[in-house]
Amino acid sequence: MVDTLKLQQSLEERRVQHLYRSRQVLEGPQGPRVVIDGREYLNFCSNDYLGLANHPQVKQAFKRGVDEYGVGSGAAHLVTGHARPHHQLEEELAGFVGRPRALLFSTGYMANLGVASALLGRKDAMFEDRINHASLIDAAQLSGARLQRYRHADSAHLQQLLDSSKATTRLIATDGVFSMDGDLAPLPPLAQHARQHDAWLMVDDAHGLGVIGARGRGSLEHYDLGMSDVPILVGTLGKGFGTFGAFVAGEEALIETLIQQARSYIYTTALPPAVAEATRASLQLVQTEDWRREKLHQLIDQFRAGAAQLGLELGMSATPIQPWIVGDTEQAVALSEKLKQQGILISAIRPPTVPRGSARLRITFSAAHEPADVTQLLDIIETVL
Ligand SMILES: *Cc1c(COP(=O)(O)O)cnc(C)c1O
Repeated sequence: MVDTLKLQQSLEERRVQHLYRSRQVLEGPQGPRVVIDGREYLNFCSNDYLGLANHPQVKQAFKRGVDEYGVGSGAAHLVTGHARPHHQLEEELAGFVGRPRALLFSTGYMANLGVASALLGRKDAMFEDRINHASLIDAAQLSGARLQRYRHADSAHLQQLLDSSKATTRLIATDGVFSMDGDLAPLPPLAQHARQHDAWLMVDDAHGLGVIGARGRGSLEHYDLGMSDVPILVGTLGKGFGTFGAFVAGEEALIETLIQQARSYIYTTALPPAVAEATRASLQLVQTEDWRREKLHQLIDQFRAGAAQLGLELGMSATPIQPWIVGDTEQAVALSEKLKQQGILISAIRPPTVPRGSARLRITFSAAHEPADVTQLLDIIETVL
C-alpha cells in the first residue's frame, strides 16, 4: 500500500499557509440568498450574473426537456448523443453571436482544450495573457505547442513575442473579461497584431457573454469587433446563462475541424438534452430582458460609489466582477470569515489562482440582487475594516 504520510504533510503545509480550500454545502438553489448549514447568507460570489440559474422559465424548459428526452444523452455527439435540442441550441447561439456556426461542448474547460488541441501541435505556439483562465493555460500544455505568456493586457509585449516567433501556426488566446479582475482585454490591438502576424485570435468570453454590451453579445459587442477580427469565440453557459455547458462559434471550416479533431468533443458524453432546452430558454431571456444588464450596471455603480467612500482598494472594473484587493492571503481569508459571520458570503481568492501578494475578495453582482442588498453589503464591510 502507498504511504499517504507525504500527502498529509503537504496538506498540513497548505493549511499553515492559509491556502487550504474546502467546500461549503448549499441547501437550496443558487441565488442572491443561499442557505448553508441552515443559515441564510447574502451571496456575492456566484457567476450567475443575470439571475437565471433558478429562473422559473428556465426550470420549466428543463423539466419539459426531461419529459421529452429523458435524462442522459446516452452517447457522444458523434455517436447517437446529438439530439434536436443540442442542434437547435447551436443554431440559436450562432445567431446570437452573429456567426455561421456554433458547436456545443460539455464545459468551457473542455472547449478550450478542444480548440487548442485541434489547431495546434508541437511546432506551433500559443500566446496567452499572463492572467488567463487556467483552462486556457492547460489547453496550451495539452496541445504540445509552445506556451508564450505576455504581460497582462500588454499588447506591445505580445507583439515582441510574435515578432520573434518561428512557430508554424500561432494562436493568441485571451479571456474577454478577466475572471478574477473583471477588466476587459484590449481586444482591438490584439486583433490588429493577430492580423499582422497571421495568427488566430481566440477570445474566451465566459464572463462577458450575456452580460457585456448593450444586447449582451459580450466583449466583442463592446468593442464592435466581428469574426474577421476574432475568428474563434468561446462562450460558457454556466455563468451569465445560468445553466451548464459551453460553445465555440466561428466559420464553418473551424467548426467542422473541431468536430473531426477536438478530442474533448469527440471522446465524451453529450450534455443532457434537457440542459440544452434549459439554455434555449435562458438565451431567450438574455436576448429579450435588457433590464437585467441595466440593473446590474446600476448595482455596480452603487457599489463602486460606496466602496470609494469607504476607501476600499478596488480593481479597475466596470463588470459584475469587483475585486477588493487585500494583498495578504491570511488577511483576505480572515476578512472573508468575518463577513461570513455577519451573513455575507464573499470568497477569498488566493494564490495560485491569483499572483502572490494579490489575494482578494472577489465580489460579484447579479441582476437578482436589489439595491438594498448592496447597501447591506457596504454597511457590513464598514464594520469589518
Ligand atoms: C469558468 C471559466 C471557464 C470554464 O468554464 P466551465 O464551463 O465552468 O468549465 C473557462 N474560461 C473562463 C475564462 C472561465 O471563467
